[in-house]
Amino acid sequence: MGEVHWRELYHEVVDTGLCTGCAACVMACPTDVLGYTDDFIPFQQGEGMGHDQCVIGDRGCDICTRACPRFRDWESDLDVELFGRVRREDEVYGIARSILLTRATDAGVHEGGQDGGLVSALLCWGFDTERIDGALTSRIVEDRGPFDAAPFLARNREDVLATAGSRYTYSANPLAMAEADDDRLRQIALVGMSCMASINGTVSAYGINKYKRKVALTIGLLCSKTFTYEGQEQVLAEHGIAMEDVTKINVKGRYMVWTRDGAFHEIPLKELHPHTRPGCQLCPDFAAQHADISTGGIGADDDWTLTIVRTERGEEWMRGVIDAGLVEARPGEDDAVAMKLLTALSRKSRQRWPADVLPEGARRPALLPTV
Ligand SMILES: Cc1cc2nc3c(=O)[nH]c(=O)nc-3n(C[C@H](O)[C@H](O)[C@H](O)COP(=O)(O)OP(=O)(O)OC[C@H]3O[C@@H](n4cnc5c(N)ncnc54)[C@H](O)[C@@H]3O)c2cc1C
Ligand code: SF4
Ligand code: SF4
Repeated sequence: MGEVHWRELYHEVVDTGLCTGCAACVMACPTDVLGYTDDFIPFQQGEGMGHDQCVIGDRGCDICTRACPRFRDWESDLDVELFGRVRREDEVYGIARSILLTRATDAGVHEGGQDGGLVSALLCWGFDTERIDGALTSRIVEDRGPFDAAPFLARNREDVLATAGSRYTYSANPLAMAEADDDRLRQIALVGMSCMASINGTVSAYGINKYKRKVALTIGLLCSKTFTYEGQEQVLAEHGIAMEDVTKINVKGRYMVWTRDGAFHEIPLKELHPHTRPGCQLCPDFAAQHADISTGGIGADDDWTLTIVRTERGEEWMRGVIDAGLVEARPGEDDAVAMKLLTALSRKSRQRWPADVLPEGARRPALLPTV
């Protein structure tokens, strides 16, 4: 990339609001120069230095810029790296090998999962077959209340099952890589929303070899936004629901809530919109376009995972769990509603990418066109 480092990343991505808070830069920084705020923003933590300064960068280090999935030509570069070509204009949800509806065959895995439990089934199989020795996922923060999420390093199938399901607050799962590094784990699965899933491409396209070798599989979670914890708590309270009583939340065009007393509540999504996490406002990627396997819950069937298989290794993992009898699969086209929503929601997210946020003279990141 030449003469760029944290200074350019700060001005072009963090300062412009394009930063999602995915924490790839923090994960990849070899000298721990970068910190990360409670508001999901990376910052330069050297004492007495400007937000945009980095002395290591001045000496030639540019790893943070290479890890970032929002810097300059990220979208086309990652397409070429992962798929050998840039997407066609009509490939609005990115490049796919196949689209399936999947479900874990084990009732416990399926019921513990948010949708069909595919993500948990893949991770459990990965541990059981020693394809991975760690997985970057999210856990509930016990002392903050249910559904507040934090990065977590799962080390076995018990950890996977204990942390299944979706929380709609942000959790920068790549931050859990620090623990995996400390413990010298070798093969890691990365689970994360679309923004984090693109790290699958940056480590490879821009030669961050340590993590290119280490990330054995990236599972993306389809995502249009996350909300602040306090905002969700407030809206629930307005509907007479205490967060402590909530047993499950799901978002499918509406905010769906299940409570301890067995009741089910539906809240219009527009009530949550004011509580959107700022880092999501300009995010153009609904469909986790650079994951090996992208997963979501949209569609007519509530308890199946809509599964977009994108890469060769994603295909190998899917074949592995299906052949082992751990996952059942049927064609995505079986659910016309899911396919329609996948396109519509992907197109909607892409409209968020701004035309004019960059400082004068900065190079504009090119988002590929969409029809
Ligand atoms: C914030 C968020 C928004 C989403 N929005 C949509 C959407 O708009 N449309 C759609 O179709 N699907 C969305 N999904 C994906 C969907 O909720 C399921 O995660 C997906 O279908 C996989 O289901 P599963 O049963 O196979 O996964 P499971 O087996 O339940 O595994 C889910 C995995 O996600 C991890 N996880 C849970 N919460 C978080 C979090 N906050 N941050 C990071 N990792 C987390 C868990 O640790 C677990 O590893 C969203 C997910 C999240 C977390
Ligand atoms: S988008 Fe991710 S990698 Fe880029 S600056 Fe923000 S936190 Fe860092
Ligand atoms: S909308 Fe989802 S994918 Fe995009 S930045 Fe927010 S959490 Fe990440």
